[in-house]
Formats: sequence, structure tokens, C-alpha cells
Amino acid sequence: MTTKPVPRYDVIIIGAGVAGIYQIKRLTDLGIEATVLDAGGDLGGTWYNNRYPGARFDSESYTYGYSFSKELLNEWHWKEQFSSQSENLRYLNYVAEKFDLRKYMQFNCQVEAAHFDEANDLWQLKIDDGRKLTCRFVIMALGLLSTPTLPRYEGMDAFKGCSFHTFHWPHEPVEMAGKKVAVIGTGATGIQVIAEIADKVGELTVFQRRPNWSAPLNNSPISNKEMADIRSRYDEIFATCARTPGGFEHEPDRRGFYAVSRQERVELWDRLYDEPGFGIWLQNFREIFTDEEPNAELSEYIAERIRQRVNDPMTAEKLIPRDHGFGVQRVPLESYYFEAYNRDNVHLVDISETPIEQVTESGLRTSERDYDFDIIVYATGFDAVTGAFDGIDIRGIGGKRLRDKWNDGPSTFLGMFVHGFPNLLMPAGPQSGSASTNYPRGIEIGVNWCTDFLEYMWEHGYVRADATLEAEERWTTHVTKMYSKMLMRKAKGWFTGYNSNVDGHEHGKTRYFVYNGGTPKYVATINEVAEKGYEGVVLRSDSSVTSEFPVASVDGVDGVRVSK
Ligand SMILES: Cc1cc2nc3c(=O)[nH]c(=O)nc-3n(C[C@H](O)[C@H](O)[C@H](O)COP(=O)(O)OP(=O)(O)OC[C@H]3O[C@@H](n4cnc5c(N)ncnc54)[C@H](O)[C@@H]3O)c2cc1C
Repeated sequence: MTTKPVPRYDVIIIGAGVAGIYQIKRLTDLGIEATVLDAGGDLGGTWYNNRYPGARFDSESYTYGYSFSKELLNEWHWKEQFSSQSENLRYLNYVAEKFDLRKYMQFNCQVEAAHFDEANDLWQLKIDDGRKLTCRFVIMALGLLSTPTLPRYEGMDAFKGCSFHTFHWPHEPVEMAGKKVAVIGTGATGIQVIAEIADKVGELTVFQRRPNWSAPLNNSPISNKEMADIRSRYDEIFATCARTPGGFEHEPDRRGFYAVSRQERVELWDRLYDEPGFGIWLQNFREIFTDEEPNAELSEYIAERIRQRVNDPMTAEKLIPRDHGFGVQRVPLESYYFEAYNRDNVHLVDISETPIEQVTESGLRTSERDYDFDIIVYATGFDAVTGAFDGIDIRGIGGKRLRDKWNDGPSTFLGMFVHGFPNLLMPAGPQSGSASTNYPRGIEIGVNWCTDFLEYMWEHGYVRADATLEAEERWTTHVTKMYSKMLMRKAKGWFTGYNSNVDGHEHGKTRYFVYNGGTPKYVATINEVAEKGYEGVVLRSDSSVTSEFPVASVDGVDGVRVSK
């Protein structure tokens, strides 16, 4: 009998964030031989990396945590409605320790390449430490916001002070008292960091190219009594998240924008603006996402609230976006962000008027003047959604590169498969249900579905699964069509793939990154596919490979095991 290589692992998961942690839990519960590889120094993904001051949830903490274990839900006490980075990382570590998952994880492992071995239906992975690992299935839990992007200014290496992207904020404390600090960027991260450090630094100069809409977080502590109440309501809370489009507790106001009077609309907005979380965005009228006029009326309302909070009228006007309406992008939530500009030590520089020309040894040069700084913070966001995929040389059938296939934007089946890249799964990938929602709710759905799918493969003795081109085209067309109804299609943001710091991601080249149909519709669709025996996915068995359900073997050697 001919010998066929047997993979070292049945499954390799790339990424040890919220998705990778839950995925390894599900697989090892089934006794599958699997490992998690992460480029970072430890687990946590987003919450391991983004240590900048002010980094915290905009999801209600108790709706963000995993829902899979009653015991975990009963043990963990969220201390704040919107928990901070350090607490979130502590939580993920707690989960990993509790379920003894750390032993399946390998850190400081940047996956550089993943090539599909067509003859043997295996993936071969190349790690930056020189190792080569093989697996039957590769699960990409790479994160949609895990590849930071820097601006492209001349002289960035010349700066003699400290400079870093917020994603790479140092693990050791950064001394900021009395320092002259620049923050470049006023997106979701900039808004958090600026508000947090304004009263802790000497001078803070904010370089803003385009303002973003944002609204108050209205955070508060969670007492023991409140936590006990949350615990008693977890079933109800997660049931609500499952039926709302965004996977949050916030349900849209279904009365209809024009069915109520202007006075009633303003009353609703007054209430929502002062409530915690995404209410002002997601408990609003549904027309604000699709119709220009309702969106313009709401945007003007929010603009007025900004004017009320910023003392200097000229500064206030600069902080109000003109190029997109409120809520057409994921809305950053802030804590006293606008009030920061009322401080004497905070200065706003509009770089749409006076662009940054270069980074100098001592600071920044705009078209108007030179600025000296001790610290430059790049709050310049991410090569969102596909950046981490582009970072790996992924090659499928015929050596085709995923990077090339997705050159003009991703195309997927259900956000989980890519035609021509068999045995590659994405529980939280582009065009999946988690991208535009309360992520962990979508991640749990994706991980559970992928795990069921793998169980099905093993139970039926299949070794290869590839979505058909037709299924992929159908899904991608569906995702694309949904954008046409949304005002978001016009916005310069990561939902449409805009990033001026990444080649090919200029405005006007829309990338259809997120599924806009909402959680319930997404779940119904993927469940229907499963019920129909994974319709749209070609499954193949191989008689030379054992059809037994693969269980973990104790084989300490990395590389390829060869079946006898
Ligand atoms: C500052 C910030 C705040 C956020 N707040 C919220 C929030 O309040 N609510 C919400 O729902 N979402 C929020 N998000 C989105 C957040 O990314 C998700 O909630 C969630 O953490 C995603 O988990 P993940 O496992 O999919 O990805 P990640 O946490 O990004 O983990 C992906 C992992 O993959 C690893 N990886 C990538 N490429 C490779 C490679 N080639 N080799 C090896 N490893 C690799 C990375 O190192 C990383 O550890 C926030 C994001 C940011 C950046």
C-alpha cells in the first residue's frame, strides 16, 4: 500500500484571540489533535496588543463575554459596564486557565505561509521560526482588526523621541506627565486615547484629517448586586443578542422615522444620547442607515450636542464630520472626548488644511510650521478585515494565491470558505456574521458552525471540502447587494475597505467586507446550508485515509507523521 503523509495536526488554528481561544476549546473537547499558533507573545489578540490608555469595550462587558459555559458566567464578575483592556485580557486568561487551554497554544509564531498540498489534501504551514507544520484543516482566526497601519510620512525613523502605533503601545508604563504628546488620527482609537491622556500630559496636540462621529459611552461600575442580577438574566440577555441585528442588547426602534413626530424623535435621541453604549446608534430608527434625510436629521442633532460640549465654536465645527452621516460607520464611543478640547493644554490641528509633510528629529512639520514633541502616537488604525490574510502567503489549488484572488476585495461562501482553498475555514472572516456586530456573539456562532462542520467531515470520512465557485459567487453577490441599500457604501471607513495608507484601498474602490443582513438572518442561512448537508461545499473522501474520527495522539515531533 502506498504511504500517504498524515498531518501532524488535524487542525491548526492561527490566532489566539477571542475566536482562537473558543475554537481550541471546542476542538479539544472533541479530542481533536489541534494547536493554536499566534504571532503575539501571549493569548488575547486585540486585548493583548492594544494597551493604549483608554482602550476599552464599546460592547456591554457582559454581552461580550463567552456564553458557552454557565459556570464561567457565574464565576466572572465584570467590574464595569464597559470593561478596560487590562480587565478584558485578564478575563481571556481566566478562560484559558479555567479550561486548561494554554497547553495547546504556541506563541511568537508568525505564520508566514500556508500552502495547500493537493495530492494529500493537507495544509503545509511555514512559521517564522523555521518550522514547517502540516494539518488537514487550517482555521484562520486572524482577527479583522489585527494588522496596524502607519501613515507614510517622510522621516518617520528620524524622530528621536518615542513613537508608536497604538496597537504597539509599550507593555511597560509610558511616562507622560509634563510631556509634549502628538496624537495622529481621530478614529475609534484616537478618540479613546485622546480623552484618556488629555489631563495626564503636559501638552497634547491632536492632528486630525477627518473627524469621526462619536457619542458618549456613559460607563459605570457594576456592583455585586448588579452583577448578581446580570447573572440571573444571562439567558435572557443572550437571547436578546441573538435576535437583534447587531448581536447587542440594543433593539432598533421599529416605529418608523416618519411615523412619529419630530418632537418624539428628539425625545428618543435625548434619552439615548445619555444612556450607556450603542443605544443612540442601534436603538435608533432603522431609516438612519438607509435614507439620506433621516440620517441628516439625526446627524444635525448629534452635531448640536457636540456644539453644546465644546466651548470654542470654531473647534466644535472642526470636530463635526461633513463627509458622512452619523452611524454609517461603526460609531466610536467616548468618555469626555469633546470636553478634552476645552482644556488649555489640548490643541487641534486640522491636517486637511495644513497637512503633515514630514516627521523630523524633534517632531512634526506641517505645511504651516514645525512642532516639537517627546512622544508621537500613531492612532492610524488597521488594514482591516483582509490585512492579516494578506500577511500570509496563502496558496490554494494550482498554487493560486489568496492575496491575488482578493486583490479587489474578498469573495467567500458564508464568510467561512473560499473556493479553491479547500479545508480552510474562517469562523470570523470577511463577509461573515461577526464583522459588523458584537464580535463574540458572531464568533461563537462561527466557531460552533465550523466545529459542527468538521465533526460532519470526520463522521463521514471526508478529507477535503471546497466551496463551489457558484456558491461563493452567490454569497458575495448577496453581500454586495446589501451594501447598495446602506448609506455606509459611500463612507470612507473600514466597512468599505478604505485606508489611504494601504495601496489599492483608496476611496471609491469599495470592498464588500461585512455582512449587513444581521445576526438572525445570517444564522438562519448558515443553518440551512448545514441542514442540507453543507450544500455549496464539495466534500470528498479518500479511501487511503482512515475514516475514523481523528483523536489526539501523543506525538511530540513537529512535522509530518507518515501512515503505515
Ligand atoms: C481597540 C479595539 C477595541 C475593540 N472593542 C470591541 C468591542 O467593544 N466590541 C466588539 O465586539 N469588538 C471590539 N473590537 C473588535 C475585536 O477585534 C473583537 O472583539 C475580537 O477581539 C476579535 O477577536 P479575534 O480572535 O477574531 O481576533 P483578534 O483578537 O484580532 O486575534 C487575532 C490573532 O491572530 C493573530 N495572527 C494574525 N495573523 C497571524 C499570523 N500570520 N501568524 C500568527 N498569528 C497571527 C494575531 O496576532 C492575533 O493575536 C475591538 C477592536 C479593537 C482593535
